[in-house]
Amino acid sequence: MVNDVSQDRLRQLAAHRNGAVLSLFLDLDPSKVPTAPARQSAVDNLMHEARRAVEGGGLEHDALVRMRSALTEIESRLEPTAIPVEGARALAIFAPGPDGPVDILRLPQPIPNRVVLDVSAHVEPLLRLGDRARWCVALVDRSRAMFHIGNEDGMPLDGTLDDDTKGQHQQGGWSQSRYQRSVDNEAQAHLEHVADALCVGLREGRFDRLVLAGQQAIRSDLEAKLDNEVKERFHGWVDLDLSSADAEAVRAAAQPVIVKARREHEQEVLARLAQGVGTPGGHGVGGLRTTLGALSERRVETLVVDPTLRSPGSRCPSCGLLGLHLAECPADGTEMQQLDNVIEAAVALAYEQAAQVVLPAPSEELAGVEGIGAITRF
Ligand SMILES: [Zn+2]
Repeated sequence: MVNDVSQDRLRQLAAHRNGAVLSLFLDLDPSKVPTAPARQSAVDNLMHEARRAVEGGGLEHDALVRMRSALTEIESRLEPTAIPVEGARALAIFAPGPDGPVDILRLPQPIPNRVVLDVSAHVEPLLRLGDRARWCVALVDRSRAMFHIGNEDGMPLDGTLDDDTKGQHQQGGWSQSRYQRSVDNEAQAHLEHVADALCVGLREGRFDRLVLAGQQAIRSDLEAKLDNEVKERFHGWVDLDLSSADAEAVRAAAQPVIVKARREHEQEVLARLAQGVGTPGGHGVGGLRTTLGALSERRVETLVVDPTLRSPGSRCPSCGLLGLHLAECPADGTEMQQLDNVIEAAVALAYEQAAQVVLPAPSEELAGVEGIGAITRF
């Protein structure tokens, strides 16, 4: 499976307002759309519904023209030869997206088909999928490297690096001397090259955590060449054979490392939350009402929520303030919108203020704050 939803992506989407944003969700659950023709008919139905929403959406002329052209682009990107279904259980499509006229994200879990036309992107169905770090698994041998980027949902191949020296030294007088370098030197130069590539990849934001795979003989040499900032993100070695491992084997091998890192991160966040809540004047709030208050004041750095928590509540359609049972917004007097589940709105508001969102497994610490709390910036 692949998951294009990251916390960064959710922050961009949650803050994305464009007067009119069309959000489409296409279910690719193989039990519901088992064949290409079945999928095509689901696409046709979704596009039909999208056109109806756009034509009947009361859009101003310019917005309507833009939206019609976005629909044409979506249609072409969902054609049988173009649709990105490999490894996806659903697609989320936003027009316009934060990055361009049409943004398509592949999702690792099925989501019911849906069309929403609103002033902002409809991110709620994605909120529970973004609790993921971006991992790189680099498979390295003495002359080649393969870089897989993903998370516990999937680890597709992102790129390769080949320093196989055969055939590379046929130019000018340099070939002879280089050819005579010991094999060991060649391997050392290759490992140097891999370490550089990882450093650049980290700086470019391609990943934030690293797992390496390779034979014992190269491990200490490669580790010694890693930049300090790469070393800080390094979570250990796994056993994988570069020449035979596919994306699924890479995902399975990295899974225990990812799960362990995730637990450690959750523990660390829960400890910070408990300390913030337990210290007078500390940077932490616990309980639904107080946490909604901190979110409404835009001072949340990390929101911590039990992923099973649900509660009704209310939201101000004008300023975004969240509350439990408010009829009127205390900030601007607007009539509050009543929500079946205010937790999703809380998670969306956290992303909107560029907060981190952690959805840990149920624990005593989390129960101590009624399933929701936040580490605050001030
Ligand atoms: Zn308000």
